[in-house]
Amino acid sequence: MIKNSKLPWQPLLHVLLAASATVTPLLAASADSVKDTPYFGTLALDVDLRDAPRKLFHVHESIPVKSGALTLRYPKWIPGEHSPSGTLDNVTNLKISAKGQVLSWRRDLVDMFSLNLKVPDGVAQLELAFDYLSPAGGGEFGQSTSATPNLAELEWNQVTFYPAGYAVRQIPVVSSIRVPSGWHFATALDSKVEQDGTIRFAQVSVEQLVDSPLFTGVNYKQIDLAPGASVPVRLNVFGDRDANIQVTPEQIARHQAMVKQAVALFGAQHYGHYDFLFAVSDKTGSFGLEHHQSSDDRIYADFFTDPELFARGAGLLPHEYVHSWNGKFRRPAGLATPDYSAPMEGDLLWVYEGLTEYLGNVLTARSGLWNAQQYRDALAMTAAQMDHVPGRAWRSLQDTADAAQRLYYEPRAWVSSRRSVDYYPEGELVWLDVDTKIRELSANKHSLDDFTHAFHGIDNGSMKVTPYRFDDVVATLNGVQAYDWRAFLTQRLNSHEVRAPLDGIVRGGWKLTYSDTPSAFFKASEKANKVTDRSYSLGLIVSAGNDKGAVNDVIWGSPAFDAGLTPGMSIVAVAGEEYSSDELDNAIATAAKSKKPIELLVKNSNSYSTVRLAWFDGQKYPQLTRVEWQPDRLSDITAAH
Ligand SMILES: [Zn+2]
Repeated sequence: MIKNSKLPWQPLLHVLLAASATVTPLLAASADSVKDTPYFGTLALDVDLRDAPRKLFHVHESIPVKSGALTLRYPKWIPGEHSPSGTLDNVTNLKISAKGQVLSWRRDLVDMFSLNLKVPDGVAQLELAFDYLSPAGGGEFGQSTSATPNLAELEWNQVTFYPAGYAVRQIPVVSSIRVPSGWHFATALDSKVEQDGTIRFAQVSVEQLVDSPLFTGVNYKQIDLAPGASVPVRLNVFGDRDANIQVTPEQIARHQAMVKQAVALFGAQHYGHYDFLFAVSDKTGSFGLEHHQSSDDRIYADFFTDPELFARGAGLLPHEYVHSWNGKFRRPAGLATPDYSAPMEGDLLWVYEGLTEYLGNVLTARSGLWNAQQYRDALAMTAAQMDHVPGRAWRSLQDTADAAQRLYYEPRAWVSSRRSVDYYPEGELVWLDVDTKIRELSANKHSLDDFTHAFHGIDNGSMKVTPYRFDDVVATLNGVQAYDWRAFLTQRLNSHEVRAPLDGIVRGGWKLTYSDTPSAFFKASEKANKVTDRSYSLGLIVSAGNDKGAVNDVIWGSPAFDAGLTPGMSIVAVAGEEYSSDELDNAIATAAKSKKPIELLVKNSNSYSTVRLAWFDGQKYPQLTRVEWQPDRLSDITAAH
C-alpha cells in the first residue's frame, strides 16, 4: 500500500547552465554532525529497468531541499559488504536541476562520494537524472554483474543520492520501478502495480530502501517456506532459463525445515516477513548479501538440478538467513553507522560473520540440506584450510577482522601467507570451540543455542538495530555458562600459533585426518570452483576452467613452494605429458612408488622451465575421523532440534 503520493516531476522547460561555472568546494558534513531527527521532506526515486538486458538502469530522483549550501551523498560504505565498496564509478550522465535550470556541482576533494552545490534561493526541490551502468563482468558483491537478458538484481544504494547531515533511517523515500514487459519482480518492500506497469512502493526510510533489494526477471517462482506460519517466509527464485528454477518437493521441504530450525534456534523473529531473493545464474556474480527482511542471493545456474552443486551451495541461504538475527538485528557497534559515509569498524566480524558461518552450517545440517557426513566433510575442509596458514605467524585472526575492508578485494593468490577473510572459516572453528566447551562444562545441559536465545532471541518482532560490543558477548556467554570467556576468546583472536584452533572438533568427538581419496563434498567443491585442489599434498591449486593448468595458488612452505612454483604460472606438462589433472594425479601416484620427484614443465610469462616437486606421500584429502574417547557432540549439534 502506498502511503504518500509521489512528488510530481518538474518539467525541464528551461535547461540553462547556472550562472557560475565553478562551485567553491564546501565543507562536507561529517558523520559526527549527522542528525538523528526526521528529514523535512520525502525523497522520490523512480528507476526504469526496461533497459536492464543492456545493463542500463535509468534513474530520476526528487530531493526536497532548502536554499544554501548542500552536500549530496552517494552510498560509499555498504552494509554487509563491510567496506567502502559503493559503485560510484558506474554513475553517468548525472544532471541536477531545479525549476528547469541545470545546477552546477563540484565533487568533494576528499570524499569522492560527496557532491557539493549551492541551492538557489526559492528552490525547494532538486531533480536528479542519471544512468547507472550495471557492470558487465568481474568485481565483488554489488560490483559484479547484476543484469542479464533475462533477469536483473537492483541494489537501491546504486541508484540513490541522499542529502548529507541526517541519519538515513530519518530520511523518508517513496520509490517506483518499471521492468521489461513480462518480467516478474520480488522484494521485501510493500508494492502496488499500476495500470501502466509502474510498480510503486510504500514509503520507507532510505535505510530500509537500501536494505530491501529487488530482483526482476522473466523466469520466476515463489515458494512458501513457512506454510501456515503467522510470519511469512518466501523463496523467490529467478533464473536465466525456466529449467534452472525447477525446485523439487524434497528441496522445498528441506528449505522449509531450515526456516523452522532457524526460528527454533533463535526463539524470536526480527522481520514482519522474509524474502529470499535467489538468482540461479552463471551470468551474474555469485554471492549472498544479507538484509533485515530479505537477502540478495546468487548462485550457480544448475544449483537445483545438479546434486553436487546443490550440496556445495546449500549453505548459502542458511548463512544469509542467520544474518537477519546476527548482523542486522544484533550488530557490532562499529558496523551500526548512521549513514553510508561513516567509516565502518570490522573488529567484531568474527562474531558477525564467524558465528553466522557456524550457525548457518549447523542449520544446513539440522534441516537436512546436508546430511551429517556432508557437514563433517565441509568442516574438515575448513579445518584443513585454516591448518595450512603459515600467515598466522604474522597476522592474527583479530587482524583479519580489523582489516576486513581491504581483504574482500585482495588477490586470491598467496592466501595462506597474506591471510584472507579468515574470520569466516576460523570464526566457525572458534564458535564450534565455544559451543562444545559450553556443552562439556554444563554436562550437556547448555549449548550455544542458549546463547542465541539470550543474545538474538530478545524483543520478538523488533527490527530496531541493537548494537553490541565484545563485553556484551562475554557477558551473555557467562550468563549461559560461567567461564573465563574473555581469556578464551582473546587467546584465540590474538594467537600466532602455527596450528588452527581445532579443539572444538576434538571436543565434538572427531579429529582432522587425511585420506588418499577425496570426499564427495571435496569433489563438489572442486567442480563448483573449477579447480584441481592438491593443497594438502603438493600445496597447489590449479585451474580446471578455461585457463586449465594456470596456478591459482601455492601454499606457502609447501613442496610446490619449495620447487619454485608461483601463482600466475601455468603448468604445461607433467612428466613429459600435456597437463591435465589426471596426469598430475598419475604423477603423484608414480612418485609415491618411485620416490623420484614430480617433473613439471611450467610457463612463467614467456619463459619455460622444468621444476621438480619432492612429494612422495601420495594423495591427501581432509576428513574427520571419530575420536572414541569423546562423546559425539558434533552429531548432537547437527541433529534436527
Ligand atoms: Zn555473511
